[in-house]
Amino acid sequence: MEEIKKYIREVPDFPKPGILFYDITTLMQDSVGFKLAVDAMERYVDSRGGNKIVAIESRGFFFGGAIADRLSLPLIPIRKPGKLPSETISEEYALEYGTDKLEIHSDAITSGDNVVVVDDLIATGGTLEATCNMVKRLGGEVAGISTVIDLSFLPWREKLAAYDVNYLISYDSERT
Ligand code: AMP
Repeated sequence: MEEIKKYIREVPDFPKPGILFYDITTLMQDSVGFKLAVDAMERYVDSRGGNKIVAIESRGFFFGGAIADRLSLPLIPIRKPGKLPSETISEEYALEYGTDKLEIHSDAITSGDNVVVVDDLIATGGTLEATCNMVKRLGGEVAGISTVIDLSFLPWREKLAAYDVNYLISYDSERT
């Protein structure tokens, strides 16, 4: 899947100095690149045999939406606080400085559900861990995690050790 790297734009010092931002908009702007990524993610999601896709705001929506449509699976959004209109549960997680929070509709997952979680990129794994925790609190299981990009120099593996994780490309240092 190394060819996917040619569609990812690397933006230094965004959103703040010292961060190298991996921009997936250039992948999505290229119909060949986007299809390549969604094809591979679709194969993984299909292989896990889950019954729902859980997609994380906001870049996870692009990939999760496309895969859910292709596989005719229900699509569940994970959103920032205050965006979901009905009853929710939430999970707080640590950022480099401070905390952040995500929400899911309480009735979106029920006991017996087996979901694949989709996002664009794994950095520290905090976002995915919080998402998986909410799925489990609602009685669901996590069949797998699917992303485009892995930042392998960050310590997400311990946090997500309980899950099957699939990604298409890896960056192993902050400057490649
Ligand atoms: P984390 O919870 O640390 O794994 O962060 C994952 C989320 O933050 C993903 O939803 C990404 O969209 C975003 N993110 C974190 N670091 C980067 C980066 N270097 N480039 C692009 N997106 C990032």
